[in-house]
Order: sequence, then C-alpha cells, then structure tokens
Amino acid sequence: MVLARLRLPVVAFWCLGSLLGAGSLFLDGFAGSLPDWASYGVSNLLSFVGLLCTVQALRLDRRAPWRLGWMALASLGYVLIHEFIRQRLGNAPLRLGFVALASLLLLLEVVRWAWLIARRQKSKSAMVVAGSHLLLAVGELLFLLELVQGGGGIPTRSRVYAEVVNSAAMLGNLAGDVGFIGIALERALYLWLKGADTQARLEERQVLGEQLAHLDRQRGLGLVAASLAHELKQPLTAILASAQAAQRGIAADRLAPAESLELLDKVVSNTRRISSISERIHSFIRPTVPDSGLVDLEKITREMLDLLEVDLRRLGIRVVFTKAAVPILVQGDAIQLSQVVLNVLRNAIDAVQLVPDRSIHIQVTRSAGEAVLGIRDMGPGLDPGLADQIGMPYFTTKEQGLGMGLSISTAILRQHKGSLLLRNAQGGGACVDIRLPLLAAGGALA
Ligand code: ADP
Repeated sequence: MVLARLRLPVVAFWCLGSLLGAGSLFLDGFAGSLPDWASYGVSNLLSFVGLLCTVQALRLDRRAPWRLGWMALASLGYVLIHEFIRQRLGNAPLRLGFVALASLLLLLEVVRWAWLIARRQKSKSAMVVAGSHLLLAVGELLFLLELVQGGGGIPTRSRVYAEVVNSAAMLGNLAGDVGFIGIALERALYLWLKGADTQARLEERQVLGEQLAHLDRQRGLGLVAASLAHELKQPLTAILASAQAAQRGIAADRLAPAESLELLDKVVSNTRRISSISERIHSFIRPTVPDSGLVDLEKITREMLDLLEVDLRRLGIRVVFTKAAVPILVQGDAIQLSQVVLNVLRNAIDAVQLVPDRSIHIQVTRSAGEAVLGIRDMGPGLDPGLADQIGMPYFTTKEQGLGMGLSISTAILRQHKGSLLLRNAQGGGACVDIRLPLLAAGGALA
C-alpha cells in the first residue's frame, strides 16, 4: 500500500511475491482439514511462484531482461516433480526435502540480486534484503541437514527450537519487506531526480537555442547591412529633395498651397517607409518568444531577397523566382522562418560566387501535404567526402564561417515539424528543400 503510488513493475512483482507467500502460509494453516493437493500441492506452488516473483522484482530493478518464459517452465517442472513425489512415491521426507531445496536455491538467487543492487547502488536497503534472505536460506539449509541426518524420517523438533526457527523466519521476511520498501523508495527518488534533471536540461537547451538564434539573426542582419543602407537611402533622399523644394519655393514666394501639400505628402509617406523598414529590422533582431501564425512562404522569401538586393546586384547574381499559382501557407513563427530562408540564401550566395554561372533558382511548391521551398544554386555543390559533417554545429568550410546557420535552421524547422534537406542537384550545384506541414485553405493543417 505504501508503494502502490509509485506504479513501478518492480513493486508490483515484489507485492505479488509477498501475497503468494501469504496465500501459501494460509493454506498451510489448514493442513489436515483441506485435501492434500490444496494444503501441500497448491500451498508449495504458491510459495515457489512467490519467491520467483521476488527474484523477478530484483532483476527488474537491475534492468535485467524479463524471464517470464523461464518462470512458467520452472513452475511447471516444480508442480510435476512435487506431485510425482507426493502421489507416486508417497514419500513425505523426500517431498519436504525437494520443497526446501527449491526454496533454498531461490532464496540464494534473491540474495545474489540484492547483493548486486547493494554493491552497484551502494544501497543499505538492498543490503538488508540480502541479509534477511540469507538468514531464511540458512534456515532452509539447516532443515535440509536435519532431514539428511534423520535418515529418511521427518525430524522432530522441540517446541522451543521450532518457535525460535519460526520467529527467525518471520523476522527475516519482515526485514526483507522493509528493506525492499527502502529499495523502491530509493528507485523512485532516483527516477524523480532524473526526471527533474532532464527537464532542467531541456529548458536550458531551449533558452540557449533562443539565444543562439537571436545572435544568428543579428549576424545575418550585419551581412545585409549594405542592402539596408541602400533601402534607407532612397526614402531619405526623397525626403531631402521634397524638403529642399519646399524651402526654395517658400524663399522665392512661389509655392502654391497644392504644391506644398504634395511635397509634405511625399515627406510623410517616405518617413512612414523608413519607419516600417526600421520596424522590420527591429522585429527581426529582437529576442523573441516564438509566435505562431499564418506564414506565406513566398512572401517571406521575397522579403529576404529584398534585404539582399544590393548584394545580389553588386555580385552579379541572377535570381529566378518561379511564382506559385496560389499562396502557399504554413503555420509558424514568421521571423524564425525568415531566418531559415536568409541562412539558406546566404549559403547559396556564398556558393555561386565561386563559379562563373552566378544564378539561384527558387520555387515554392506543394507536395504530399507539405509546402516545399526549394532553393537551388549553381555553385560547386557539396563535397561528398564531407556529407556527414555538413549541418553539424560549428562545421564550416568557409574562412569567415561560423558553421551554425544550417544547424540553427534545422532546429527551427524541427520545432515547426518540418525539415531541411541539403543535397547535390542533378546537373550541378546544391539544392536545399525546406519542408513544412502545409496549411490548407481555411487554416487547417493539410
Ligand atoms: P557557414 O555558412 O557559417 O559555414 P552553415 O551551417 O550555414 O555555416 O553551412 C555549413 C557548411 O555547409 C558550409 O560551410 C558549406 O561547406 C556547406 N554548405 C551549405 N550550403 C551550401 C551550398 N549551397 N553549397 C555548398 N556548400 C554548402
């Protein structure tokens, strides 16, 4: 009852063993008033199977494999031999000797397993179990010796001797049970500590993952700084030009109200544009708690290409973006998924710089309930000798590389129940497939 809450198979076996032992004693108590097959046959079988369960409980605690087949076979053999001696030979001392010998062997097995647990886990409780069962084994051994010395007759014990032996057996059983409660509680504490430790590690890994992803985004933004400067320069130039035109018009007293309104409109709309660019940058690098919403894969790819525009033009890279007929939607965190796309595009840009044909092909498709964003570059492709290292954290073949882009991207996709596959494409170059569960029209996952 104390241990039932733990719901461990180890406990179940031990308790079953004790119950069977108690059932055997109960039947023993009715010897003479019950038929022989019940008070001898069934009672001895219960005691034998009970001890087998005790051994099994300790084996389970040591994570030894189950031996249910063996248990069944041993029980059958026990019944057959026992009944053969009882019914065919009618030899009571031989039957008692057989029962005592079988118990002795099983008790020694209990001692062996308890001793193993005591040594491996430095468990005092297991030591108590081993000691108490050794005491019971000694009791059986003494009884066997008495039988042998009795020369074929059942030994007669003095009342005092019998009381001492029975009390010792009772105490041995009791000590064994108390010892086992100790083992089970130690095991439960161990499992609880292990669970708490695993949980702590998971939480730590998640925090580290988020920090890493944040750093990766900051780095990604650093690499597109040229594009950002360019993107900001356009509206700033427009604002300056409008303001200067207004200045000149007012100075020369030639500015009609309609004209000044038009110039002010330009200032306002370009200021809004700058504000939206800075908002985009801010939300991209801000450490975020993952958010979940509808994400249009094509749209986020287009946004990342916009960020990279100046670099693409400067390096003479041609991007062929094949549009899908309908928007392909997935569920997830738009910023994290944009980060994955940016990482893959950055790798493609690095790769095509090594060859004359600087082109990248992008396509978003649907395939078997999945949205697939394929980014194929015409670079040198992957070195087959490095295939099993590519994508491992910190593996890089680039002088300025960190080797974190692919592993962070894979981790992000895994959180979205998606995957990233990088392979050599037919006809040269490398191809990355970003796969995510497709969101059907209406918002449900396809
Ligand atoms: P990094 O870009 O910092 O090296 P990644 O994890 O993004 O880190 O990439 C790891 C490695 O994978 C790269 O150094 C490169 O060797 C290989 N790789 C990734 N993408 C490509 C690609 N498109 N073509 C060839 N090699 C690639």
